[in-house]
Amino acid sequence: MKVPMLDLTEQYQNLKAEIIPALDDVMSKAHFILGDNVKKLEKDIAEYSHSKYGIGVANGSDAINIALLGIGLEPGDEVIVPSFTFFATAGAVSRSGGVPVFVDINPRTFNMDPAAIEKAITPKTKAIIPVHLYGQMADMTAIKEIAEKHHLAVIEDAAQAIGATHRGKKVGELGTIATYSFFPTKNLGAYGDAGMVITNDDEFAERMRVLRVHGSKPKYYHHILGYNSRLDEMQAAILNVKFPHLNDWAELRREKAHTYNQFIQEMVGDVVVTPYEEDFNYHVFHQYTIRVPKRDELQAFLKEQGVETMIYYPKPLHLQPVFAELGYKEGDLPETEKAAAEAISLPMFPELKTEQQQYVVEKIREFYQKN
Ligand SMILES: *Cc1c(COP(=O)(O)O)cnc(C)c1O
Repeated sequence: MKVPMLDLTEQYQNLKAEIIPALDDVMSKAHFILGDNVKKLEKDIAEYSHSKYGIGVANGSDAINIALLGIGLEPGDEVIVPSFTFFATAGAVSRSGGVPVFVDINPRTFNMDPAAIEKAITPKTKAIIPVHLYGQMADMTAIKEIAEKHHLAVIEDAAQAIGATHRGKKVGELGTIATYSFFPTKNLGAYGDAGMVITNDDEFAERMRVLRVHGSKPKYYHHILGYNSRLDEMQAAILNVKFPHLNDWAELRREKAHTYNQFIQEMVGDVVVTPYEEDFNYHVFHQYTIRVPKRDELQAFLKEQGVETMIYYPKPLHLQPVFAELGYKEGDLPETEKAAAEAISLPMFPELKTEQQQYVVEKIREFYQKN
């Protein structure tokens, strides 16, 4: 049996009858940049996030950049970020002229540890970027409390967590700004790059809207330095077809996650640590990520057996060569470094079959019986 990490082909076949006419409509009207499809998506995603404004941008990385400049980040300002995340979270901070300050994670959820944030705050701190990793929101209650106490902005990197909730609050509701990615592999994926920023703040919204069009307002007059970073009409048309299915897909992902939990409990046992969902969170399982011993050997064995897996992420950001001048060293963030050595993500997508999941877990059992 072959089990891919992600297979988007079945979803396309199911939606093809709607996607083709939606794309044909864009091309027939020949309005490709910032038209009605983007407007509709911005409105729908903002509403979905219980927020006032949605502003479509070119991708999830630009979304973080634009959010940081949107809150008025200045050169040398410090931004507290997790190290156990995709590169873009910290890359955007440096790209925007800021200094990433890395903090450790809660080992159970893989998300930023609020207790570590307080210790990292200095007079230069401007913002905190919690990442809602793998589809589960970070402890936004604690983070918001710290941010308010120290007058810091909170930018939620929600690239992996559209639809997730924390104590009944949605992504975008508790932060100053939230950023989404619609990269094809995300829970709401375009057929190319796309992203969005979400906020309730009138002033930040206006600034971000200007930032995505070269800082131009009115057109051809520039008071601030912006980007060319827009979500295009073709991608927005596709996302408008997909968006109404998002909640159903989240439910299916949760079902798959529970099925994995059950199979692992029955067949493998405690050698594998299954994902931990806080009882006040709604996890949308962008990834189903377990912790295991002999992780790299397990991955190689599964590959031989036709099971694709991924390591998100093998090298923490504080130890990446590009950030060497920040002066971090091995041992600085022990939980992050441990997670980077133990975490492995199993195939996860709404169309994944129970037989495929059973096969994956049988192969995991086989590996630990031999090793
Ligand atoms: C995917 C992702 C991004 C970047 O999104 P792009 O659309 O690929 O630029 C940022 N942060 C996290 C946590 C991500 O998973």
